[in-house]
Amino acid sequence: MSRRLTMALPSKGRLREPSWLLLEASGVAPQEPGERVLQAHCRNADIDLLFVRADDVPEYVEDGVVDCGITGLDLVSERESDVEVLLRLGFGTCSLQAAVSMEDSATSIEDLEGRRIATSHPRTAAKMLAARGIKAELVRVAGSVEISPRLGLADAIIDLVSTGSTLRTNGLRSLGVLFESEAVLVGKMGSTDLEARSTLTTVLGSVINARANRYLLCNVAKDRLGDVLALLPTSGSPTVMDLATSGLVAVHALVPSADIWSLLPKLKACGARSILTLPVERMVS
Ligand code: AMP
Repeated sequence: MSRRLTMALPSKGRLREPSWLLLEASGVAPQEPGERVLQAHCRNADIDLLFVRADDVPEYVEDGVVDCGITGLDLVSERESDVEVLLRLGFGTCSLQAAVSMEDSATSIEDLEGRRIATSHPRTAAKMLAARGIKAELVRVAGSVEISPRLGLADAIIDLVSTGSTLRTNGLRSLGVLFESEAVLVGKMGSTDLEARSTLTTVLGSVINARANRYLLCNVAKDRLGDVLALLPTSGSPTVMDLATSGLVAVHALVPSADIWSLLPKLKACGARSILTLPVERMVS
């Protein structure tokens, strides 16, 4: 890298641990891990880390206090920060959803026209409702948004949802998604330090790509090879190698992790044997 890069990481909350794990998996692990550390240097890369609240990261990056940082896309949207999204990180996935109590008559987001909605994301909510031509009154609340309808503060809520269990626990029903979010690496707009940023993006991106794939190995009789290859959901070309036992070949391929569950029984049914799947550490295409 051309010069030391400064990077803001979430110091607590949901995004803290996965951000840390991503840096560790990328081999640029900080020297002094620990809850109370506010600043750290990286062992194997010219990166200085600053630990701040995830909500503050967009502003630190926009103001140039740091070169880049990890935060939630929802926070970038809500702060209306003028930063560049360099990489989607594949964790911290959630969506901003509109919800009403189970007994409410609303069946779609459009049914919220003219109603009172509590949210801790008023700017994003206003933008998303306006895009659908819906006029509603937004009530800004800082936390515990989901109890607002029960308290009589609002008819509905717009809040971040990942599994939906908090909605259910609070007797709420989702009307739909307004905005999809995940953790992102953001950089200062118009930065001149493109080389250092591009190195960081490539290194982190190689780990994120790898996490989404598995390396699959299996053996199959040559006369069933066509069936096995037809099943593989791989974009590249699989490797096929002769085995010492004549008539048998080994097939190696990179396959999306999400497909493994359905793929293994089909491979077995096609005569594939000695099937192995291995995690992939890095992938640079
Ligand atoms: P925290 O520091 O724990 O408040 O983390 C907040 C960030 O985590 C949000 O801005 C989102 O980007 C992300 N996140 C992921 N899932 C959820 C969720 N179910 N509720 C709130 N935030 C979530």
